[in-house]
Amino acid sequence: MSTVDAPTSHLRENPYDIAREQLQRVATTFDIDANLVNVLGECKKSVEVSVPVGMDDGSTRVFKGYRVTHNVARGPSKGGIRYHADVTRDEIKALAMLMTWKCALMGIPFGGAKGGVVVDPKQLSRSELERMTRRYTSEIINEIGPEKDIPAPDVGTDASVMAWIFDTYSMNKGHSVLGVVTGKPLAIGGSLGREEATARSALYSIRDAAAKQDRSVAGMRVAVQGFGQVGSYLALFLHQEGAIVTAVSDSTTALYNAKGIDVPAAFAHKREFRTLAGLRDAEAITNEELILLDVDVLAPCALEQVITGENADRVRASIVCEGANAPVTPAADAILEDKGVLILPDVLANAGGVVVSYFEWVQGLQEYFWKESEVNAKLNDIVSRAFEETWETARARDVSMRVAAYGVAVQRVAEATITRGIYP
Ligand code: GLU
Repeated sequence: MSTVDAPTSHLRENPYDIAREQLQRVATTFDIDANLVNVLGECKKSVEVSVPVGMDDGSTRVFKGYRVTHNVARGPSKGGIRYHADVTRDEIKALAMLMTWKCALMGIPFGGAKGGVVVDPKQLSRSELERMTRRYTSEIINEIGPEKDIPAPDVGTDASVMAWIFDTYSMNKGHSVLGVVTGKPLAIGGSLGREEATARSALYSIRDAAAKQDRSVAGMRVAVQGFGQVGSYLALFLHQEGAIVTAVSDSTTALYNAKGIDVPAAFAHKREFRTLAGLRDAEAITNEELILLDVDVLAPCALEQVITGENADRVRASIVCEGANAPVTPAADAILEDKGVLILPDVLANAGGVVVSYFEWVQGLQEYFWKESEVNAKLNDIVSRAFEETWETARARDVSMRVAAYGVAVQRVAEATITRGIYP
């Protein structure tokens, strides 16, 4: 028997430890009661399930799945489902906690949750993916629901996965339940603008930050890491605004062109071939080189922990826009802050996804659907207001945008918890 090296996870540090450390830091800065911090540092519920799936070749594989609710003080819990080979329970807990802060910062009536299955979805056939999704949904069916916990897409899942979750839940209830999941296809109650929403909030955050610095997005040089639902649309929107996107990447390929990547061509190429590999008029670089490029804006839009204590001092961007959740570790945060780099934190910059998920949930409950222009205008209002609150708090308290954003959010959750009281 030969030994095969297990691929190393992108998670070099424990994400839940990081999330709790950040909460503690914010609690100290904003003087939050220690008893409350004890409550907010834990997840309300964490469910682990095994997901047996009959594979196309006749074998049976068993995948491990999770659904975690961090907090419901401000409303039902909300958060995506991630399919990735490196998923761990602590990663899902950390991401659930982030969702609580994100929803609170946006002022939408949700708590935080996250789910995940330890699987590389690219290795499954479409029918295997469907069977796995339906079985995972069945295993967590008592945890989710429109008034309880509402999943959505995250890394490795998309609208068709949401359609299977919607259908499985609805078949079990005996009628269609539009509000059980968001990020659904338009044909079955999705919202216009949901697919692009996460990238839009990143764009709005960059635009608002540029305005504060008397700069404009037009002419800015940008590197975008990740070319999935967030990175691909962000690159496209920035290109449309006149920015020069000098580098893009996906999980296999990173590409550079000093004069600017032809983003519409990259977008079309990725749609057609599912990879950036083979795109013309660009030079291959490494993912690490992309992170360290001399650009105005660096937008990590893939996974966690890509900017760390090891590479942060060599980052040359003046703005880091977190399209992904937790792409910057606390050690990197400190280094970037010292260098005067402006970080637009995840809970602000990528919150557009959950904001339009909220709109989708509302539209589904009312069975009344909005125009795309209405969705985008309301999204812009919410994100720009949150940007302004974060900016003002950062100035008033002389703290980073991250500490300010988490601070505003944690205070809101704390207030809801105190107002409700601890049961019984
Ligand atoms: N997975 C996305 C996030 O991390 C969206 C969650 C949602 O729409 O509920 O914000």
